[in-house]
Amino acid sequence: MSYAVEVPRESGRYGPYGGRYVPETLMAPLEELEHAYEQARTDHLFQAELDMLLRDFAGRPTPLQFAPRLTDYLGGARIYLKREDLLHTGAHKINNCLGQGLLARRMGKNRVIAETGAGQHGVATATVAARLGLTATVYMGTEDMERQRLNVFRMRLLGAEVIAVEAGSRTLKDAINEAMRDWVTNVRTSHYLLGSVLGAHPYPMIVRDFQKIIGEEARKQIEQIERRLPNYLFACVGGGSNSIGLFHAFLEEPKVKMIGVEAGGRGGSLGEHAARLAARRGLTGSRPGVLQGTYTYVLQTADGQIATTHSVSAGLDYPAVGPEHAWLADQGRAEYTAVADGEAIEAARMLARTEGIIPALESAHAVAELIRRAPQMRKDEIVILNLSGRGDKDMETLSRYA
Ligand SMILES: *Cc1c(COP(=O)(O)O)cnc(C)c1O
Repeated sequence: MSYAVEVPRESGRYGPYGGRYVPETLMAPLEELEHAYEQARTDHLFQAELDMLLRDFAGRPTPLQFAPRLTDYLGGARIYLKREDLLHTGAHKINNCLGQGLLARRMGKNRVIAETGAGQHGVATATVAARLGLTATVYMGTEDMERQRLNVFRMRLLGAEVIAVEAGSRTLKDAINEAMRDWVTNVRTSHYLLGSVLGAHPYPMIVRDFQKIIGEEARKQIEQIERRLPNYLFACVGGGSNSIGLFHAFLEEPKVKMIGVEAGGRGGSLGEHAARLAARRGLTGSRPGVLQGTYTYVLQTADGQIATTHSVSAGLDYPAVGPEHAWLADQGRAEYTAVADGEAIEAARMLARTEGIIPALESAHAVAELIRRAPQMRKDEIVILNLSGRGDKDMETLSRYA
């Protein structure tokens, strides 16, 4: 089916999803951000500086690489990997951080605030802040700080202030609350640097726009190599930024099928997975609601309490999903499935052995779904899989499963 690419305006809606559900005090800064972005997107100097940083600092364009041994092994479609794992700091997150860092400077704000769970977004934020001469404050739950000590050290080495959050479950959710409190208090000097296509409008639109370069490059690259469009796109879905980044340039091509892969965790019951969209039919627990400023599918209990989630990969472990994905799912424009922890680990091992690439466990979820489906595909079909990040950060987890 066809899908008209939406550029949400004031309402920030994707169908019924998205919007701006925030306290009155945040309306003005969100409008300021929206306005600054509207101007920046058509400003040649802004775009030129962003292009330069993406190229020289981050390492774009990333290769679109044919995966010959995985293709042979699975015996189906021709598989191409979009190598976001080769970017500086090891994942696609730097694309968005550079864009928002430049926006912050343009708004005259010399400080950025971020929250981080596993620390990947915190490290990308600290990296960009250092490069652009901004100060960075990163909120992190103490539980996560304990689990991700190396990333805490990285952020501090890069000059960021890491603030330990002791409240609640001492994880990402609590860190977000503290970061919001900071933003409300310091909104004149500080920009809230959100890491995925989540939160109130205009964040889902801005983050998507800074990530859509993934699909724009991939489209040019595949047209050059194969002289035609791919049949399938595969990407993992945490908040949804690397997947929408790949999908966006193909949304108006009805023949290109898109598969988003969520965390199936340890099983189908609430609390054991983070399959917001894959679980919305059949399984209980996922239905539309408001979380952190946006209306989207949220994993919740029968009486509306936000559910706990589980995934072996921290980047997919979140109870809500970006509102544009909710709309793509409802319309059937993209398909969403879930892959269990063990399958993702197995897929990481398979990619390592066939292609010499150790993927991030997030990306390994997409690889696992591809391993399931590729053998049924025709040999003349083409797949592009987004390798959102590299696996260095996951060595400890991988070794526990060895
Ligand atoms: C953070 C992260 C993700 C999940 O975030 P999205 O916004 O869904 O892209 C996926 N892969 C890697 C490597 C990450 O670091």
